Amino acid sequence: MTDARIRTRFAPSPTGFLHIGGARTALFSWAFARHFGGTFILRIEDTDVERSTPEAVQAILDGMAWLGLAHDEGPFYQMRRMDRYREVIAQMLAAGTAYHCWATPAELDAMREAQRARGEKPRYDGRWRPENRDRLGLLVPAGQQPVVRFRNPDNGEVVWNDLVKGPIAIANTELDDLIIARSDGTPTYNFCVVVDDWEMQITHVIRGDDHVNNTPRQINILRALGAALPVYGHVPMIHGPDGQKLSKRHGAVSVMQYDDEGFLPEAVINYLSRLGWSHGDDEVFSRESLVRWFDGSHLSHSPSQFDPEKLKWLNNLYLKQIPDDELARQVAPRLARRGVDIAAPGSPDLSRVCGLFKDRASTLEELADLAAMLWVDPVAANPNLVDELAGQLKPQAVPALRDLADRLSVCDWHAAAISAAFKETLSAHQLKMPQLAVPVRLKVFGRAQTPSVDAMLALMPRDIVLSRLRA
Ligand code: GLU
Repeated sequence: MTDARIRTRFAPSPTGFLHIGGARTALFSWAFARHFGGTFILRIEDTDVERSTPEAVQAILDGMAWLGLAHDEGPFYQMRRMDRYREVIAQMLAAGTAYHCWATPAELDAMREAQRARGEKPRYDGRWRPENRDRLGLLVPAGQQPVVRFRNPDNGEVVWNDLVKGPIAIANTELDDLIIARSDGTPTYNFCVVVDDWEMQITHVIRGDDHVNNTPRQINILRALGAALPVYGHVPMIHGPDGQKLSKRHGAVSVMQYDDEGFLPEAVINYLSRLGWSHGDDEVFSRESLVRWFDGSHLSHSPSQFDPEKLKWLNNLYLKQIPDDELARQVAPRLARRGVDIAAPGSPDLSRVCGLFKDRASTLEELADLAAMLWVDPVAANPNLVDELAGQLKPQAVPALRDLADRLSVCDWHAAAISAAFKETLSAHQLKMPQLAVPVRLKVFGRAQTPSVDAMLALMPRDIVLSRLRA
């Protein structure tokens, strides 16, 4: 079913990286809009001027681009919309849905203190509402700029049917008259969100449930403006494997760090979509399937758990599906960063190397580590290797290694011929495969475990193999 009227937004505050939680919120908003053929809007909520930075804006744009979450409108910057917020505040003052308040911080403290002493919940008592102000005979203090407060309804409840949490009702007596403009005239956070959601005609607000307490306030202001209410969906937090709120301790926080670590955006998208949403037992599915299925149902109301191991597993599945030459293209810069010159004379073909190793690598970084084995001389990297090995070698392995090197110096240079040379050597010396293959791996590649040793050796120039074996 399509519905082009559907409009969602992702509204990050640019105070840090695009982290996993933010990316998941963005993904859900994006997928929901795409599912219905609607519009996805990016809005940068940069009104916290002390904490917002251009670098953080860029990090968000980079993260969204890397994940392939394209917006249809925006990015809109709240700092560029100040005139509009001021206009709406003036309208609300004129309409009586907002009013000026001159209560000083000291006065507000005393008010709360007195309320607490009476065993009441501390809240603004509405003393500067026009009717109270007259009744109390309050005088506007000279030279002091007022804040603007929203006139919250006194009675009744704010009720909404949350897409994730179901029906929620908050009594208006729980809410006091929210400040919508500070004394310097700047609008406050909840107010900007309301004006934007209204003017951008947002139909579905999908966001983290850390915002659930803002929603009744935002709904009341929208009502006062005569605006249609969006549907709200508050997605539960993401926890680490230890059940604590996701943080640096659990690994990468920034989406772009996953890029650095060699994760694939498609795998990250697949993984994130399963944090707080499900489609039956499906675990591995494409972005297209996600869009086809993501209609706002099956959102979970309990926190989800971030499992780095599962993400790695999924990444390996996606990595294995990439054609070898494309993998080579992606691994090449990672090898260059390791100082490997993939074009050095006698270099193996990187596509074939990637093909050989891709089953074993969870990430492009791991693949680069494995591939680097074919370029880095383990003896040069670890001058003690020969001595260390000599201590470990079974006495009969030494003549066997020499014999193998002789056979390898004359055989054809492909995996089958190399395998035959191994078999001949094993039977001539009464050895089992690991007794020969492990020392060969260590001497040639610096590791006890590799994919099949004959296939690996076949990728290397014969003279390099022989010189490492004979060292
Ligand atoms: N700017 C808010 C944040 O980054 C999100 C506001 C919203 O989605 O309503 O947490």
